[in-house]
Amino acid sequence: MTGGAGFLGSHLCEQLLSRGTEVVCLDNLITGSRRNVEECARNPLFRLVECDVTRPLSVAGEVDLVLHLASPASPKDYQRLPIETMLVGGQGCLHALELAADKGARFVLASTSEVYGDPLEHPQRESYWGNVNPVGPRAVYDEAKRYAEALTCAYRRERGTRTGIARIFNSYGPRMHPDDGRMVPTFVCEALRAEPLTVAGSGEQTRSVCYVSDTVRGLLALADSESEGPVNIGNPHEHSVRQLAEMIRELVGSDSPIDSTVGAVDDPQRRCPDITVAGEQLGWQPEIGLREGLLRTIHWFAGQLGADTASDRV
Ligand code: NAD
Ligand code: UDP
Repeated sequence: MTGGAGFLGSHLCEQLLSRGTEVVCLDNLITGSRRNVEECARNPLFRLVECDVTRPLSVAGEVDLVLHLASPASPKDYQRLPIETMLVGGQGCLHALELAADKGARFVLASTSEVYGDPLEHPQRESYWGNVNPVGPRAVYDEAKRYAEALTCAYRRERGTRTGIARIFNSYGPRMHPDDGRMVPTFVCEALRAEPLTVAGSGEQTRSVCYVSDTVRGLLALADSESEGPVNIGNPHEHSVRQLAEMIRELVGSDSPIDSTVGAVDDPQRRCPDITVAGEQLGWQPEIGLREGLLRTIHWFAGQLGADTASDRV
């Protein structure tokens, strides 16, 4: 797996290990950390190889499955690392595909709902081609993922590689970085620290957030299938950013005010997956409700920040 020491990757490593699968995690730790996989590292089936996947890869022995997750994922990270993001979506994906083709392995790309850009179709189905500004500040991520999807399809067509593409929608949960700038960790940490919650723009823009265990189950279902995708993996319950901020504040039991900050450039205004394909092809749907997922997340962040909050009831 590439990117296994990140947020989603570390949970995926844990699930694979719990099935008795040997896991080689290739990660340069640019946005991930050893700490994320310190539990995994106690398992003899796990190996972390610190390397940059934009350079050619070699893994000894048989490989059944290549999961390509390496990429900065939060807008703050990919705008701080624009060239690295383009390279890992391009060269990194190429090397992961080469590895899969050489080993005769199944390949799964962690793509994103960002391929839909600021969508003109709602909810988003896999058949929608998207509305991406190719020269805006989000383009390094969106276009790298669109390129990665095209490259993945080229390997399927030209080399017969057994590929699958997951279009992952906003996921959240333990091990997100408190400072990675994404909405859920930012609001949770602000509420726990009794600071104002910084809602960007009107707060009327929407997201549909999926708890990490559901996302990981969806990725594994895709890996276990022969589906070529793309398949949306996300929770179809849509909320405005302001509603999410209010719910997090309530669940933390905080009096923090909700502040409006400058809206982000090219911020998608609506985001909600149609998950019919995931249901039909993978038998997958999310199971963890928003309140439950947020409470688990708050509980974890409270432990990290050493804060004493109402979430201790979890
Ligand atoms: P993350 O930043 O926590 O993890 C990404 C990992 O990739 C990190 O461990 C990082 O060090 C590693 N990495 C980056 N460039 C690398 C390189 N050149 N070589 C080796 N390792 C490299 O992000 P995440 O939230 O866990 O996302 C994982 C994947 O899922 C990403 O591809 C992301 O685009 C995709 N995704 C995530 C979400 C989400 O909500 N978390 C939504 C859509 C898509
Ligand atoms: N957002 C916000 N305050 C923050 C961080 C994000 O209001 O501190 C907004 C952001 O503008 C976007 C939504 O929350 O409308 C989701 O942002 P995130 O960075 O989590 O994910 P993405 O934009 O990639 O969906």
